Amino acid sequence: MSQHVDVLQMARDQLAVAARYLNLDEGLHEVLSRPKRQIIVNFPVVMDNGEVQVFEGYRVQHNTSRGPTKGGIRYHPDVDVSETTALAMWMTWKCAVVNIPYGGAKGSVKVDTKLLSKRELEKLTRRFASEINIIVGERSDIPAPDIGTNAQVMAWIMDTFSMQSGYTMPGVVTGKPLEMGGSQGRVEATGRGVVVAAGEACRMLGMNFDGAKVVVQGFGNVGSVAARLAEEQGATVVGVSDARGAIYNPNGLPIAELSQKYAGRDGGIIEYPDCDKITNEELLALDCDMLFPSAISAQITGENAGNIKAKLVVEGANGPTTPDADHILSDRGIMVVPDVLANAGGVVVSYFEWVQDLQNFFWEEDEVNKKLERIMKHSFAQVYATMQQHKTDMRTAAYIIGVKRVADATV
Ligand code: NAD
Repeated sequence: MSQHVDVLQMARDQLAVAARYLNLDEGLHEVLSRPKRQIIVNFPVVMDNGEVQVFEGYRVQHNTSRGPTKGGIRYHPDVDVSETTALAMWMTWKCAVVNIPYGGAKGSVKVDTKLLSKRELEKLTRRFASEINIIVGERSDIPAPDIGTNAQVMAWIMDTFSMQSGYTMPGVVTGKPLEMGGSQGRVEATGRGVVVAAGEACRMLGMNFDGAKVVVQGFGNVGSVAARLAEEQGATVVGVSDARGAIYNPNGLPIAELSQKYAGRDGGIIEYPDCDKITNEELLALDCDMLFPSAISAQITGENAGNIKAKLVVEGANGPTTPDADHILSDRGIMVVPDVLANAGGVVVSYFEWVQDLQNFFWEEDEVNKKLERIMKHSFAQVYATMQQHKTDMRTAAYIIGVKRVADATV
């Protein structure tokens, strides 16, 4: 579905809405609608069979006014420089909404990791890191995991930079293994933030989180953690999906069992027996209280937004809802907690990781989680108050805050 939606145009349309509310100077609007830097790299990797394969990758830095740039690295066959630019722009607003001193960036490599051996993945990662090191660094641009990458990939990137600099450089990436300077709580941070945001939204809407029915699209890092924490807090997760399909059980799905025995395995979660197998479209239209789209962009569109039954949508993924879908959901009275707020927990704890690395002083998990929760709740309250002040929706309110903070720093 994402192939049919121009996500960069979608990001620019969202910026244009905020620009109108802020009466933003035209020139400044133009500056903010474009990335500061984009690099495209084509690099060779010698595969296990001895043949050379060339891969295309990108690193895009959107804005550096508030600090070094920060953003994940995605390995996926459908990425392109335009989508990577949209994702970098969203990172700029996200860091500003939660008020951490970063601008936005994103990187990606066009690759299907399922087709690579571990050795090939390592070689690809180290070569990509070398290619982008002209703009990436612990004081300039700090990558993190995203779709298709993980702590191991971050460890290889850190090691490549450390080899080139001659000293250990943990601050160059976040989302690393704990043994290499990673932070307690980072793996769960995005999903934890999603659940904190959902809890705050429930409070505002007078809904009970305890006993609420939840549907989660995408069962990777973000979706599986959000599902587990929602379940721990008394919600019943009735539907989940991964790239292979979706499953439903109105009495609830066993999240820990799905994570431990099915997720990330060959067949994926649809191998779990005690449930109905449904399509992605059916999943989004399930009878539930909360929907956490936590997979890829442009999943809730003008075509299917009318079918959504959830009262609350909390965006774990980046850009899962298109602007036309936003209008439909808003008209139907469905609250959408936007990605730039809802999934900011990841970058907040990445920021904590970076601060710990630069100071060589590490925090307990409890301290990390408490600081994360405080920032999420405070940011939610600011966005909610701005929404009421301007009589608008949560996305526009978040953009008003984020874009204003960046614009103020850019002039
Ligand atoms: P991941 O690779 O760990 O998991 C992605 C999940 O989505 C997998 O279960 C995959 O099977 C599933 N998926 C892919 N295509 C799908 C489709 N068409 N339908 C249903 N499921 C599909 O990635 P992640 O780190 O969990 O990231 C998920 C989303 O959250 C992405 O949009 C990412 O940009 C965003 N995000 C991630 C973080 C983070 O800290 N990891 C932070 C902020 C935002």
